[in-house]
Amino acid sequence: MAYRAEYIWTDGTEPTVEVRSKTKVLADGDEPDIWGFDGSSTNQAEGSASDVVLKPVYSCPDPLRGGNDILVMCETFTTETMEPHPTNTRARQRAVLDNYGDQGFWFGLEQEYTMLDPVTKWPYGFPPNGFPGPQGPYYCGVGALRIYGRDVVEQHTTWCIDAGLAISGTNAEVMPGQWEFQIGPVDPLTVGDQIWLARYLLYRAGEEHGIEISLDAKPVQGDWNGAGMHTNVSTNAMRENYEAVEIAAKSLGAPGKPAEHIAGYGHGIELRLTGEHETERYDTFSYGVSDRGASVRIPWQVHQDGRGYIEDRRPNANADPYVVTSLITQTIGEALS
Ligand code: ADP
Ligand code: MN
Ligand code: MN
Ligand code: MN
Repeated sequence: MAYRAEYIWTDGTEPTVEVRSKTKVLADGDEPDIWGFDGSSTNQAEGSASDVVLKPVYSCPDPLRGGNDILVMCETFTTETMEPHPTNTRARQRAVLDNYGDQGFWFGLEQEYTMLDPVTKWPYGFPPNGFPGPQGPYYCGVGALRIYGRDVVEQHTTWCIDAGLAISGTNAEVMPGQWEFQIGPVDPLTVGDQIWLARYLLYRAGEEHGIEISLDAKPVQGDWNGAGMHTNVSTNAMRENYEAVEIAAKSLGAPGKPAEHIAGYGHGIELRLTGEHETERYDTFSYGVSDRGASVRIPWQVHQDGRGYIEDRRPNANADPYVVTSLITQTIGEALS
């Protein structure tokens, strides 16, 4: 019997890349192969030469459709030369890994997001035209006055597990209507593929419940937490000795590096990294053990064990995981070479 493959890719929207998908029906026994789409409708081509190529790079069971149906994450290529499309950030990560892939990089990403009322665009759980009580009771909270949208979270988590993604947990966040899930630790390409697939599944869960999912870095101005994508990273050497952990943390603060990283860590980062709400300022670099007000945190347990991983707390929720992990792989890979 024929089955369906949902081809999923990242588009050329600025300043924040978005996820797109379309369905291909395949004959029984056929594997998903290269396909194309209209790049003039995704900010990836001019109308006069609109075709962009989709090449499958990662697939998994489709937990919504079930049966033999699958989700297929794709890279984009140009039709003229079959070179990676300029918006193909996964290809950049492949190039970086040509140099540093042998260091055994693992990444674990904490994807925060905010649920919105699709009509008012106000966070789910905020009273219409008003604000809830101040932050404090909502993080990891329970009860109808603390928690909004748990059905969506549970649906999403089940779908991620059924798809075989490396989801490692979820939690309610500091601002009402704000949540987090974690993917990893897995290798650098897989973490990017799985974050994009998990985002896709999250939007789909939102569709089913009439809730808009926002990756906006600072959805509500004022005394409300922003949304980040804390990026945890380790290498073979870091998982063996503390010296490598410290070299890695320091390397992210080397001359020129903070600005280069911040530029790739997502739109609106200046609004989120204010030095308040468990962040370091965007124009300052710091690292420290157990310090959630630093740019980079060495977890207490890692200091205790004398080996492990570090957490770059700067990336925004709306950052492209392929860009974030390639910047970090390049900087730490160079320092540990
Ligand atoms: P917190 O909220 O305290 O910052 P979380 O539990 O939300 O931490 O996330 C920790 C993340 O660290 C997880 O995504 C996990 O995959 C990741 N992680 C754990 N060990 C490693 C490691 N050795 N290398 C890279 N990432 C790791
Ligand atoms: Mn977390
Ligand atoms: Mn968090
Ligand atoms: Mn964290």
